[in-house]
This record gives sequence, structure tokens and C-alpha cells, in this order.
Amino acid sequence: MSAELRRRTPLFALIGLLLAGSAAAQSTITVVNTDGAGEGFNDPGVPNAAAGCQAGDTLGACRLRVFQVAADQWELLLNSTVEIRVNAAMNPLTCSGTTAVLGSAGPTTAHADFTNAPLAGTAYVQALANSLAGADLDSSQSDINTQFNVDIDNGTCLTGTAGWWYNTNPATPVPADRVPLLPVVFHEIGHGLGFTSLVNTSSGAYFTSLPPVWARFLYDTETDRRWNAMTNAERLASAINDPDLVWTGPRTNNLAPKFLGPPAKVTVNSPAGIAGAYDAQTAEFGPSVATSPVTGGVVLVNDGAGASVNDGCETPFTNAAAVAGNIALIDRGNCTFVIKVKNAQLNGAIGAIIANNAATGLPGMGGTDPTITIASLGTTQAAGTAMKANLPAPGVNATLGVQSGGSLAGTQEGCVRMFAPNPVQSGSSVSHFHSDAFPNLLMEPSLNRSIFDKVDLTLPLFQDIGWRTNAENILFVDGFDPNPCPFLP
Ligand SMILES: [Zn+2]
Repeated sequence: MSAELRRRTPLFALIGLLLAGSAAAQSTITVVNTDGAGEGFNDPGVPNAAAGCQAGDTLGACRLRVFQVAADQWELLLNSTVEIRVNAAMNPLTCSGTTAVLGSAGPTTAHADFTNAPLAGTAYVQALANSLAGADLDSSQSDINTQFNVDIDNGTCLTGTAGWWYNTNPATPVPADRVPLLPVVFHEIGHGLGFTSLVNTSSGAYFTSLPPVWARFLYDTETDRRWNAMTNAERLASAINDPDLVWTGPRTNNLAPKFLGPPAKVTVNSPAGIAGAYDAQTAEFGPSVATSPVTGGVVLVNDGAGASVNDGCETPFTNAAAVAGNIALIDRGNCTFVIKVKNAQLNGAIGAIIANNAATGLPGMGGTDPTITIASLGTTQAAGTAMKANLPAPGVNATLGVQSGGSLAGTQEGCVRMFAPNPVQSGSSVSHFHSDAFPNLLMEPSLNRSIFDKVDLTLPLFQDIGWRTNAENILFVDGFDPNPCPFLP
């Protein structure tokens, strides 16, 4: 019948297949609520009126509805004939006033050398293996385990945060004091579907007896070695070899220009002796330097107290009059990035630069504070030292912004970089895109508030590892290099 269709109306048949495909050949994701009676997804309580729930929902029903929306979206994106079962639970996870684990997830099992396996001797997570095999390879258990931090709702987690945001409409702004659950569920299901290294980052050993498909696409550009050809010790070293750990999958690298832009930089405009663009890390809080660049004089803060007078941990600054109207230069350490930048704002700064306190790398710039209204960037210790050497005289003028014309943010030599910080972050390193990616991506290690319901580069990466997908990103993008990354998987 399909041949007949093609003969009659070849063009329309093809277009019809593509359009109808997203609706017809999707997948089935079943949410399995594993919480006990009266807790988590079964909480019988009345939700907070400001949490974005639907009228009449119990708190548990409201939470589960969000999970179902995320599962429904993944259903539309993936093409699989085998049901994907996802366990869902809400539990107390790590949480303090400044940092919290929002959720965690992983596949329950992995399989190799099944019928139709694309690569021999290679392990695939259960949901992907099932899909490729066209059969359920382990019907005794769900494919994915997920859990989410119930303490986000208890008022003691993340100072200034009222709780989860349960509204799933992307057109409704997320209140500044709430953490949206939808992108977190979306992210965690992504891990369970295969966005995971399956490597123990404390030993370099595979969790599987055979190399996971993930290792085939990981490449260290310094040692020129693919992860599935490395020893455990070599993988251990490569896992912290930032910025040289990259993804070689052609779909991901081909489509990277669709999602990534130029990198953020601290550009020193004067004096001429130190002028130039310095590497920078964008902050997870405050306005984006891409849309709100800021230029001004640079003033080293003096807070007059504490472990260091230049760490910006105390306020008011003794040189508040000089800081006002200028960009505050602050040393990393002794308190959170949020406190430093908020203090700069309170003292009248128009922007803030956090200089690293270690010779390598950049400050992480994580944190949440909806009251921060000035842009900030982290930069290298060397950049901080260079600016300080010219302060207060002859003075430094700098711009916090992005640098066009070079490589895309979060890439190296045309390849998308993976998260490989030193020291290693167990459970996070290697299983995320690099936090330098900008605009931000769903599968970065920390949730950015610009992320809500889009999978961006995750879907091309899933195509690289073997998933059949629907809807967006089916075709290579015209005008893009088909594979800008020179290293072969
Ligand atoms: Zn993650």
C-alpha cells in the first residue's frame, strides 16, 4: 500500500509521513507511582494556593499531573513500540539553604547483544535496548527509576524559595520564589532514557560488564582517545580533564549551532596593556549578559571585614561610593556567589565579576536569588589579577557580554563538550552537557530558569546513541556542517 501511495503522490506521501509520523509513531510511557500511602505523589493535603495546581487537586494529584505532562511530551518525541515504564517517587533529598538536589534518576538495567542491537558488545539502557529489540528484555521491573526532592515544599530548603511550581503551561511565568517541577522531571527522565555515562566516576569502571554506548561517543581531545578504548585509570583522568572531554556524535554536533550561541566573556576595553576577552562563566541567577550586556569601570570591592576584605561577603562595603555605578570586582570564596553579587547590588554596582581563587578553571556561579537584578560573570584568577594590577590607577573599563565570531559556547573544535569538572562531581560528571553551554540546555548539571519544556540538543544526542525520534530535528539542518567535529565515534 505504501508503494502505491508513493507512485501516486510521491511528494505528498513523503511529507504526510513526516507530519503524521509525530502523531502516529510515538511511544508509550507509563508512570508508576511508587510512593507510599499519604506521601509524595499520594499526599492528600491541599496544595498551596500559589503553587500553580489545578482547582480541586490534592497535592499528590497535582504533583503527579506534572509528571504525566513530562512523560506525555517524551512520548511524542520518541518512536518506540515497547512500553517505557518510569517509577516515580518523592523523597527527602540533599537540601540546605543554598543548595539542593532537585531530583535524580537512572535506568534500572542495561542490555547488550540483543536482537537488532546496532553495535555488538555494547550496553544500552533498558528503555533504549527494548526499543531497538522491539521487545521487553526485562519485564520484571520498570525501565527507569526517578525521585524528586519533597523537601523543596517544606519551607526550609533553598532560602527564599517557597516551594515547587506545579503549573505546566510554558506561557505562565514561573514565580521567582518557586522551582518549576516540569523541567526537572523532563531532565530526570532524560537520564533514565540513556543520557548517562554508566561509568563509576570514582574508579573509571563501567557499571556494565560491556562498554556502554555512551563511551563510544566520548572523546578526550588531549589524549586523543575514545572512552571505550581507555583503561579505567584513563577514564578516571579524562572525567576531570575539562575542557577536553567532548561528544563525537554527528547528530549532536551538526545541530549544535541551532541551540548554542557565542560564549560569554569579560572583555577588558582598557587599559591597552590588558585589553582583550577573558573566559567567563555565566551565572544561574540575575539577568543574562547575552541580552543585558553591561559596560563600566571596574572597582575592587572592600567589605572591611571577614576572612578577606575583597570577598564581598559583608555589606556595606567600605568603598561603596566608588563601587556605585561601576562593575564590582570580587574574589571567589568564603560565601556563596549569590551573597557576593547581591552585596554588590546593594552597594550600587551595575554588574559584578567574580575572580576565581584557584589557578585553573572558572567559578561555578550557581545559586538562586530572584531579587538579584544585576548581571554577573565568573572569570579566571589570572584575569582578576590582571585587572587588580591596574586598580585603582590607571583604572579598568570592562564589558560583561558575549563574544561573536568564534566557537560556540560549550564546544571545542566543533564538538560539544561534556561536563568534566575537577574535582569530579559524583553522579553528575560526564552524564551532562557542559555548564558552559549557552543558551542553557536541558541536560546541563544545574537547572537554569530559562529551561522549561524543550529538549533542545538532547534529542539529537538520543539519535546518536540509537533512539528513533519524531517531530523536531528529524533532518540535518541545511547550511550546517554535517559533522563539524573531526573526531569519529
Ligand atoms: Zn542531571
